[in-house]
Amino acid sequence: MTLRRSADRKVTNLPSPNGKTAKIANSFGLPAGHEHSCPGATATCERVCYAGKLEKLYKGVREVLLGNLQTLVALDRAAMVELIAEMIDDFRADCQRAERKGAQVPRDFRIHWDGDFFSLDYAAAWAEVIRADPDIRFWVYTRSFDPERLDVLPVLAGLANLTVYLSVDPDNLTAAKAARRRCPWVHWAYLAETFADGRADLADLPGKRYPCPENGRRLPLITEKGSACIRCGVCPCGRGDVVFSIAKR
Ligand code: SF4
Repeated sequence: MTLRRSADRKVTNLPSPNGKTAKIANSFGLPAGHEHSCPGATATCERVCYAGKLEKLYKGVREVLLGNLQTLVALDRAAMVELIAEMIDDFRADCQRAERKGAQVPRDFRIHWDGDFFSLDYAAAWAEVIRADPDIRFWVYTRSFDPERLDVLPVLAGLANLTVYLSVDPDNLTAAKAARRRCPWVHWAYLAETFADGRADLADLPGKRYPCPENGRRLPLITEKGSACIRCGVCPCGRGDVVFSIAKR
């Protein structure tokens, strides 16, 4: 029984020499949607979920994600910790192998390129692994922050090597504001129809905001210089809030 990582070109910490593919799989996914791992899915995100679209397009992707979820839901917290820790150990071994060949490999791992925290036990299992792996920097986006459904923020608090982004859109804006009052250490990834709409929706909020350069087509998904997210660095570092645009402009 194992969990399977995904090689996501947008976030990989090592591109192939020709800059077209991901050499190291540094992300993990689960199937998206209310019926699977996303209790906090909103009407807006269900309408545009790019990861969910990939699941429909590629049978192999769907099978990996469904296999991960089926494995996890059958386990208690301790067993989940064991499997997640093994997966992260494998990621570290991939980084070390590349380093021995002279590559520069930032140890950045994105939790949930697809899917979300589906239970408190599952989030707590990740927290335990993150705490035990201080050499790896993790980042995650989540809609599981509504106390009336599922709020994983308390179990993710206080982890120096984890950046947490709330995935926010006009449908869960009120819940996100309340979550940030409870947990001021979280950042926002705000999804609007356009970047201008995002600026307007968030105008009265404090803090620095960045329009995602990859989403705005100002930074390529991947080149030989690196993936968009590792080159940009805003989300892995948690430099500030980020705005995404459905229209990509
Ligand atoms: S803002 Fe930067 S790090 Fe965040 S998703 Fe966009 S490209 Fe990636």
